[in-house]
Amino acid sequence: MKKITIAIDGFSSTGKSTLAKQVAKELGYVYVDTGAMYRAVTYYAMEKGWVSDNFLDKENLIAQLPTIQLQFQFNPALGFAEMYLNGENVEQAIRTIDVSRNVSQIAEISEVRAKLVEQQQAMGKNKAIVMDGRDIGTVVFPDAELKLFMNASAETRAQRRYDELLENGQSVTYEEVLQNVQQRDYIDTHREDSPLVKATDAVEVDNSTMTKKEQFDLVMKLIWAELTS
Ligand code: C5P
Repeated sequence: MKKITIAIDGFSSTGKSTLAKQVAKELGYVYVDTGAMYRAVTYYAMEKGWVSDNFLDKENLIAQLPTIQLQFQFNPALGFAEMYLNGENVEQAIRTIDVSRNVSQIAEISEVRAKLVEQQQAMGKNKAIVMDGRDIGTVVFPDAELKLFMNASAETRAQRRYDELLENGQSVTYEEVLQNVQQRDYIDTHREDSPLVKATDAVEVDNSTMTKKEQFDLVMKLIWAELTS
């Protein structure tokens, strides 16, 4: 069977990673969550005191970029790869609302994007990969055999993210999460370098009213069509 590259892009909290994990498991492909990479760089900058709501020390971050080591390590108990930053497991630490608040301004920095895109392209050079993010079908793998663009209403997405954060024991309000989702949508779609945009050849999946199973079945149909073409 031929091996393909599956690029999944879309707005925040559209369930990209849930879908990507399911698909990768079904096909025995590698799954890469590129949002985790931008989050890890953000966490690093936060720890150094280089970024906060109204402050960004871009120069120091750019100067230190070569020392930032990002690595995914598969955790068999969880069934997916966890994010390591300079050897430390940061999988939990990068999922906080504070990291979410700062990540889009870090993701605007071209030097950060260049470093991460290079690493992502290297991970996908042998295909058999499912990668999710904002620029996978447009910049990282413009030749991907299958591109999906995920969408859902901001309210639906905020509710999903809010439930997830509560489940992880974080104290946030729904309004705070909705505001964060809308703010990230705005920055991600308006930035100069690699803005979030649907690739012309991507299939749009609006899952506002779909169950996870319906979405998975729809996407697997698209994949089998591609694999057997
Ligand atoms: O996917 P996730 O919500 O974890 O991504 C966090 C943030 O990282 C996004 O809001 C976006 O600013 C940035 N990102 C990006 N390009 C990617 C993946 C994520 O700019 N390929």
